[in-house]
Amino acid sequence: MPAKLTLEQELNPWLAAEARFDEAAARLGLDNGLCKILRLPSKEITVHIPVQLDDGRLEVFTGYRVQHSIARGPAKGGIRFAPDVTLDEVRALAAWMTWKCAVVNIPFGGGKGGVICDPSLLSEGELERITRRYTAELIDFLGPERDVPAPDMNTNEQTMAWVMDTYSMHLRHTVTAVVTGKPLDLGGSRGRTEATGRGCMIVSREALQHLGLDPSSARVVIQGFGNVGGMAARLMHERGFKIIAVIEVDGAIYNPKGIDIPKLMEHRRQTGSITEFPEAEPIGRDEAMFLECEVLLPAAKENVITSQNASRIRAKILCEGANGPTTPLADGILAEKGVFVIPDILANAGGVTVSYFEWVQDRQGFFWNEELVNTRLEELMVSNFHQVVSYADKHSVNNRIAAYMLAIDRVAFAIKLRGIYA
Ligand code: NAD
Repeated sequence: MPAKLTLEQELNPWLAAEARFDEAAARLGLDNGLCKILRLPSKEITVHIPVQLDDGRLEVFTGYRVQHSIARGPAKGGIRFAPDVTLDEVRALAAWMTWKCAVVNIPFGGGKGGVICDPSLLSEGELERITRRYTAELIDFLGPERDVPAPDMNTNEQTMAWVMDTYSMHLRHTVTAVVTGKPLDLGGSRGRTEATGRGCMIVSREALQHLGLDPSSARVVIQGFGNVGGMAARLMHERGFKIIAVIEVDGAIYNPKGIDIPKLMEHRRQTGSITEFPEAEPIGRDEAMFLECEVLLPAAKENVITSQNASRIRAKILCEGANGPTTPLADGILAEKGVFVIPDILANAGGVTVSYFEWVQDRQGFFWNEELVNTRLEELMVSNFHQVVSYADKHSVNNRIAAYMLAIDRVAFAIKLRGIYA
């Protein structure tokens, strides 16, 4: 990515994905033909979905499904419902999934889907009809061996249950493995809800040990106290990490001695907010992001660390719980400052790893207990973390480029082995 960019260009997800791909592919000396294949998605499907609204009107919604690569296995990736979904964004996220699945070495390619709609204005029934018609339009492209969606922004396990049911009705038998992130009673996996946060805790712990720091006294700042941030906070707290600040949309709190996370969760359950927690003091949201700490865990949204603020980061480790929290221009600044970055495609891959376990369990028709899910997740996250870090050392690149190089190399190797079908 060139250094002279408008802020809009710096924040564009497709340009960010391309910048990382280009740098890693150049370092790998990737063959020009393979670069051409991997730069473009293998399939992009656009559907226009007619749906009857509750008031009787007919509306047509636009939806996308992009399969970036199926070289290593079926496409894997979420479906999001949002008013600002664009094909560019879905493309970038699909490529991201290819690299994420490859870096953690699970047998999936990458995909992503989206429907342009505003879920806050739609009833449950309308959302169900959108989901079912979207699935029906894509019926030939989905399947346990083809493309396996999962929840993403504004979709959840109920949405996945509707996708699974619609797909199964068309096939005339129940196919649980067509989606992951399903309710437990419909073939979901134990440990899935916690998996991404658990993965963040595991790689943060490994990074601290790698840097010779003691996890049991590490100071942690967390942005976003939702599924990923909340779970990571709970699991880190259980292991003695000191969560000194939590940042949310409506405020941030600070306690240098460490926040009691179960109590904070209870406070939020009762009041609906983390603010006014009696055992911490209020702090500016911006100020909290730049506190001195061992681990900064952005777990809210993309593009929070940019060329405008990266120089203010005072964390030793940046564990990217969110997807794309750091722009490519910010990467350069963090590298100069010596921040140890655990890139998103590794740090938050606990979720897709347990989604893989869900798919395996559905196909076996044999379900694991939570301990087994967590043990296997731990094994994979630890070994993948160390692979990326040794690869970075060996090739003298930062962890993000190392993760991309490892991933691109694996996908390119699969394409070479398969050959080009003509
Ligand atoms: P979530 O909606 O459960 O939680 C996000 C939290 O961040 C919410 O509590 C929200 O209020 C807060 N938030 C939003 N904007 C904020 C801001 N500007 N400052 C501070 N807090 C803010 O979502 P999630 O599932 O935890 O996902 C968080 C991030 O992790 C997203 O980038 C998502 O793509 C990524 N991710 C999630 C998973 C998963 O399994 N859930 C897997 C991989 C990546």
